[in-house]
Amino acid sequence: MSAKTYIEPQTTIPVYDECDVLVVGGGSAGHSAAVAAARAGCKNIILMERYGYCGGDVTGGYVLLIPNLSFHEKTYVRGIQEEWFTRLKKIPGAVAGPDPELAGSQDPLLIKHWAAVGGATFIPPAKICFGFTVDPTQLKIEMDIMLDELKNSIRVMYHSWGCRPIMENNTCKGVIFESKEGRKAILAKVVIDATGDADLCRLSGAPTSSAIDDDCRCSSTALVYRIGGFSMKAFSKWRSEHPDDARTLMAGLGKIHGFRNAMIAGPTDEYGWVNNWQPNRDCSLIADQTATEMGTRLKIRQVLDYYKAACPDVFENAFIYDIAPQLGTRGSHRIVGEHVIGANDWAFPKEHEDCIAWHCTVDTLNDNAPIEIPYRAILPQKVENILAPGRHISADRIAIDNVNLIPQCVGTGQAAGVAAAVIVADGSTTHTVNVSKVQDILAGEQNVPLPRNSHTDPSYMENLVEHEYGLYTEPAKKARANNDAAGTYRHWTLSSGSGAQQNNNGNNMP
Ligand SMILES: Cc1cc2nc3c(=O)[nH]c(=O)nc-3n(C[C@H](O)[C@H](O)[C@H](O)COP(=O)(O)OP(=O)(O)OC[C@H]3O[C@@H](n4cnc5c(N)ncnc54)[C@H](O)[C@@H]3O)c2cc1C
Repeated sequence: MSAKTYIEPQTTIPVYDECDVLVVGGGSAGHSAAVAAARAGCKNIILMERYGYCGGDVTGGYVLLIPNLSFHEKTYVRGIQEEWFTRLKKIPGAVAGPDPELAGSQDPLLIKHWAAVGGATFIPPAKICFGFTVDPTQLKIEMDIMLDELKNSIRVMYHSWGCRPIMENNTCKGVIFESKEGRKAILAKVVIDATGDADLCRLSGAPTSSAIDDDCRCSSTALVYRIGGFSMKAFSKWRSEHPDDARTLMAGLGKIHGFRNAMIAGPTDEYGWVNNWQPNRDCSLIADQTATEMGTRLKIRQVLDYYKAACPDVFENAFIYDIAPQLGTRGSHRIVGEHVIGANDWAFPKEHEDCIAWHCTVDTLNDNAPIEIPYRAILPQKVENILAPGRHISADRIAIDNVNLIPQCVGTGQAAGVAAAVIVADGSTTHTVNVSKVQDILAGEQNVPLPRNSHTDPSYMENLVEHEYGLYTEPAKKARANNDAAGTYRHWTLSSGSGAQQNNNGNNMP
């Protein structure tokens, strides 16, 4: 980058609109925040999104897999996340996964069925775990429908890029944005930064940190694409019958792209989506974004030819189905909140009185038992009236890879929306909000189970206690013996295994 600078002249800009709650970013976190705020009674919400659709990484980045929503027999991740499944199930080909009621089932036929279609990947070997894959186009439509149902409360602004928070001392009063109409402002009582990269928090004076380090899952970008014209079931069969050839195929594909990539089943048999992990890329840098986009696309035809040559019976008629409209990112800058989640939060496990989401991770340390995510993890330090749910949640470099998956983004987004509605209704602030009230609305009205909340059936906690919080695993025992999970529980690495990332507990990671 050039060292030259230019002084931009000061200018007066129009106020485009005013609202109670402004959500910037319409990904899984931001969309859920807007919907939850409206359902909690807020009538004056704006949802601003830089692209022309909601869903972010999920719909635009083609991240189709929503894993680990249950622990043994109980589904903990409910609320809006479960609603995606319930709504999409009515549409053929839009979603695949076992019904939540099947969680914990040890029926070998059921396990075989769901393992084979890849609907609920990450099924632990001996039991069904509720999880599902979605079709990104159908989810895009459904997310619009959800907003349209709440159109009396939510005004959607697509193609608008939030650039800068309007700060008065340490209090956020709104956001400046850019669009084809030029540079304008929106004034708001509460701003929810759901940009995923802490775009607004970074400019607000709130402390943030970066996840970009060489062996962290969060420092990998992706450009996902889909290959059609073949049967994914036939490919899975081929892989299980020819494990050595399958390994050679993976290695060959890795060489073509120069980074790891793996074909994964979607909700229908007609295509596979090629997930990929491009290490040491910062999705908030122009050069890395460009390299991700162009570098991937330049190789896709070659990859297709390689599949056809390596496995002609399956891929004879295969073709490039489509390429995700936006690059995918697993993380970049994240907030340093009033609580920073660490692996000890689930190794011990910690109770948080301000718990607003009770979510399974994809870690084997605690056998994916749900952990308590506190309100303070979406509450940036040093600034008032900004909340930051989603993949830039406050967590250390080890924990972040486990708490920024789609379910946690939806869950923290939903909680942020309810909190914002309560703040507006009560005239409080993000730091003085009545968190008990937020929890009661989530658990009592929005189908979100929360620990120790009177609206939540005690069987949720009983299930956790009965199964020892999942802490019967060897890594958990080691962590507890060391009195610290960090040494035992290392972060994800890009340098071992084949096809997917693994952590040193041997756990695969999306
Ligand atoms: C390739 C890949 C595979 C993954 N695999 C899985 C998986 O299998 N399962 C899983 O659960 N998770 C997976 N993840 C992680 C998961 O997809 C994301 O962490 C999650 O979807 C992030 O949701 P979010 O709403 O926080 O952020 P995003 O989805 O990034 O949403 C942010 C939204 O804000 C918008 N935006 C950004 N900046 C601005 C701005 N300044 N102004 C206006 N709008 C803005 C963006 O356009 C976007 O719509 C994967 C991620 C990737 C990239």
